[in-house]
Amino acid sequence: MTQLAQTFEDLTSSEGSAGFSHAFVWASVSETFPTVFGENAVKNWLSKLHYQDFISGRLVIAAPTRFIRDWIQSHFATKILSLLQEQKRDILALDLIVDPSKPTAAPVPANAITGTPTPDDGARLEFLEDGIVISSRLEPKYTFENFVVGKSNELAHAAALKVAESSSVAFNPLFLYGGVGLGKTHLMHAIAWHIRKCHPERKVLYLSAEKFMYLFVKALRFKNIMSFKEQFRSVDVLMIDDFQFISGKESTQEEFFHTFNALVDQNRQVIISADKSPSDLEGLEERMRSRLGWGLVADIHPTTYELRLGILQAKAEQLGKDIPLKVLEFLAHKISSNVRELEGALNRIVAHAMLVGREITLESTMEVLRDLLRANDRRVSIDDIQKKVSEHFNIKTADMHSAKRSRSIARPRQIAMYLSKILTPASLPEIGRKFGGRDHTTVLHAVKKVEELLVQDLTFAEDIDLLKRMLQG
Ligand code: ADP
Ligand code: MG
Repeated sequence: MTQLAQTFEDLTSSEGSAGFSHAFVWASVSETFPTVFGENAVKNWLSKLHYQDFISGRLVIAAPTRFIRDWIQSHFATKILSLLQEQKRDILALDLIVDPSKPTAAPVPANAITGTPTPDDGARLEFLEDGIVISSRLEPKYTFENFVVGKSNELAHAAALKVAESSSVAFNPLFLYGGVGLGKTHLMHAIAWHIRKCHPERKVLYLSAEKFMYLFVKALRFKNIMSFKEQFRSVDVLMIDDFQFISGKESTQEEFFHTFNALVDQNRQVIISADKSPSDLEGLEERMRSRLGWGLVADIHPTTYELRLGILQAKAEQLGKDIPLKVLEFLAHKISSNVRELEGALNRIVAHAMLVGREITLESTMEVLRDLLRANDRRVSIDDIQKKVSEHFNIKTADMHSAKRSRSIARPRQIAMYLSKILTPASLPEIGRKFGGRDHTTVLHAVKKVEELLVQDLTFAEDIDLLKRMLQG
């Protein structure tokens, strides 16, 4: 929806017909970003870009801050340009400029905030970078009020609330972990909102592990590591989201470890989220691992049917929509993977009903969500694939993530990557992450290699076919 709205705005603000067509190319290329770069990259970075102009061969794209511009420049620009050129050959270069007047498009969670309140706008929080304050958004919906509590998340919720409410440090760190889309980020933002409201004098810093890493590397490069350290060590509450991205990155981990210790020694609160528990996170130094387990480790389990129904009812109410209970029950029953997907499904049926001007019924729901439901019925997870393939080749599941390169391990790993690509909706970067944080090009290479072997080697092909059927059966 946001994508569409943004496109429309871009189109209407363009001058003349030449501008129109380039804005259109930009819009259609941005549609492919989730598949090419992964959902996270889009959510955190790429969704903030806006088409601006096309001047003598250069497509001008605006980013809201210098920080975002630089990151996109160094991580995505080359690939974006080649995608654009595939569509329109007269695009010779991509000019990324900074235009703070453009609002950040999607309701993107803040990447980094400190708790200095700005009175006029509740959703804006400040972020310090090289001593410069940059505004950044915190998702207004992610509050405790909007968080539905059930058996699977009650511990995490209680711990988060406790940390938010108490002025002394309750447990340090608070480590929240659980699968994708189960509410970790929501809870962290809720803590930030709560502290901002009740203790505006406390400095809260929330950022993704990726951003922490980026800032650290940048500080190293520009030799202002001292101010980097000072900034981080002067906060009251430090939150690092998606910590799994730091594992395996030794020097960042080392720096985080020192920051962490400094904060804990000064009795400041540290909150960390990850997709696995400290003991299951790979590529983590032993002392870091044990240190992370010192406070409270709270896991969020997969949702139960009751919780899913509760969440749907709450969301339907927020949307101000009367949706038949039968429909909500059906969704809660059918879409069990994660809350994000559940929300997406609800939004889709509501949008559809509004568009065609009809009531929401069980029939229309099934019709609108046909593809999603089918995908859910035969969903295989990457974890399942890794487990099955390891069993089949008699290697350890841990080797799916390890750095070992011997053929007896590397080949099954490639096969598992290939199967993940064809049997799950995960993008290449997402798959790479699941395999010990490998790059998406490694996954692509694996997929190509397996495809080659399938053609060349009949026994191999039969083997893969067997695995595939076992996984889908
Ligand atoms: P994670 O960070 O664990 O991947 P998020 O916090 O981004 O997950 O949650 C995904 C979506 O699901 C968000 O829109 C969030 O508001 C919603 N959500 C998750 N759990 C709940 C819950 N218990 N109650 C209400 N909304 C939830
Ligand atoms: Mg998250």
